[in-house]
Amino acid sequence: MKKIAVISGKGGTGKTIVTGGLADRINAKMIICDADADASNLDLILKPEIIRRIPHAGLKIAEIDQDKCIGCGECYEFCRFDSVIDRKDGTYLIDNLKCEGCGVCGLVCPAECIELNDNICGEVFIANSPYGTVVYSELKAGAGATGLLVHEIKKYALEEVTDETLMLIDGPPGIGCPLQSTMSGTDYALIVTEPSQSGLHDLKRLVQVLEKLPVEIFACINKADLNPGITREIRDYLNESEVPMLGEIPFDKTVIESVRSGIPVTKINSPASDAVKNICINLSEKIL
Ligand code: SF4
Ligand code: SF4
Repeated sequence: MKKIAVISGKGGTGKTIVTGGLADRINAKMIICDADADASNLDLILKPEIIRRIPHAGLKIAEIDQDKCIGCGECYEFCRFDSVIDRKDGTYLIDNLKCEGCGVCGLVCPAECIELNDNICGEVFIANSPYGTVVYSELKAGAGATGLLVHEIKKYALEEVTDETLMLIDGPPGIGCPLQSTMSGTDYALIVTEPSQSGLHDLKRLVQVLEKLPVEIFACINKADLNPGITREIRDYLNESEVPMLGEIPFDKTVIESVRSGIPVTKINSPASDAVKNICINLSEKIL
């Protein structure tokens, strides 16, 4: 099974719009993952029906057994993440939102009254959709370690695979841990960029990261007509970097209408829809 991730150097470039179009138009049986775990929203377009919910435990968090605590304050002194609260009355509490689960407090506690416990901070959903099985997630506010969650989403997706020939991943923006987790074992990356200074800057960073990985890179430009000068710069950069351009999508208000209606952009008739369909054709020729 081939795996392709749709990614972007920055948020808001239209990555999920393109992913929804690919889910609709690529002629392959596919399993679809939303690996943009910090801002999961592919389900708004694909309208999947949840068939299984799996609790997600992120980093472990420390917990003090207050009955055994002798109030020495060692945990407070040694925690490098400022996650222990000194209540100034001889008692100490763990700040669940700050605790990184490193376990140091447990090691230094003379009363052995600190335990690391699972922190259920979200859910992974296995769902049916007209486009294929969708695996996505929801995180509680403040939950971190999305790289770990992306790993789990892909793991659960692989468990659901029967005769699918393609895994389509709506990846995260940026170049951090969630991207590394997304690209691990993934064959292709389709970068969605936009013609802005930050779009070009982040595109370059992303290509530099991807070039170090065993992955074939493609790109497309969203809202390409909004800034012809930077669009030209992007084309030139992609050309120099030998990253094939699969298409340019014009700015088009009907894209928002398709999102509001909860359908892939390729389900409507519009210039943006035609452009995404062309990208699907070009991509299919490269990877199928
Ligand atoms: S587990 Fe680590 S981060 Fe959490 S409270 Fe203990 S020392 Fe601090
Ligand atoms: S190190 Fe242990 S005994 Fe000391 S204050 Fe912290 S939890 Fe209580």
